[in-house]
Amino acid sequence: MRILIISDIHANLVALETVMQHAGTFDAIWCLGDIVGYGPHPNECIEKLREYQLVCAAGNHDWAVLGKLDLEEFNPDARRAAIWTREQLSARNLDWLYALPEDIPTQAEKFTLVHGSPRYPIWEYVLTPAVARINFDFFDTHICLMGHTHVPVLYRYVREEHAATAEPLPEAAPIHFNHERMMINPGSVGQPRDGDSRAAYALLELDALSLTHYRVPYDIEKTQTEMQAANLPPRLIQRLSYGW
Ligand code: ZN
Repeated sequence: MRILIISDIHANLVALETVMQHAGTFDAIWCLGDIVGYGPHPNECIEKLREYQLVCAAGNHDWAVLGKLDLEEFNPDARRAAIWTREQLSARNLDWLYALPEDIPTQAEKFTLVHGSPRYPIWEYVLTPAVARINFDFFDTHICLMGHTHVPVLYRYVREEHAATAEPLPEAAPIHFNHERMMINPGSVGQPRDGDSRAAYALLELDALSLTHYRVPYDIEKTQTEMQAANLPPRLIQRLSYGW
């Protein structure tokens, strides 16, 4: 069983389709939230995901678009994009987004899936080993897959010291799961923020119990042109070029 692990698509259909093509065949998708917000194709991204066997968590941008979060919490560009997105979404896709869970049942016995963190699934950013360490107390499985920061990373739990270490998620080199506990962020499909503009994702092999992280170039200019046509904020358009 081969699972496509994706997060933070942010309505970037060009990036999503490029990732799917690059991944080849897979049996299911596990999506870690923020399907919409920022990008030009919210309906198309939701409809593309729905073609597959899918497990999907809600993200803070998904909730903001629905009015489940106060838009005042967002910066002006993100707020404008959220309002634009709400106007675009079909009733059917709004309902689908509304039904996305904050907490997902354990998958394949080993995996916890969240958008932000196990402690605060919608909001918390796990950006340091200190925050990761606290969060290892908030899930029971071996592995937690999370998104939200748009930065690929691997945290390992060091049991003897009740500590966590951080390391870059290696590209195109499998991580094998054993008895170690880990928190893994596959990075963002539609708006990377680690200074690398390529779309990010991971493939999980359930039989071999390994995960491989990939980066793939996509037609950034195409997404940018579509964002311009939709009159989305210039800063959101430009940042895609820099992966920030
Ligand atoms: Zn996001």
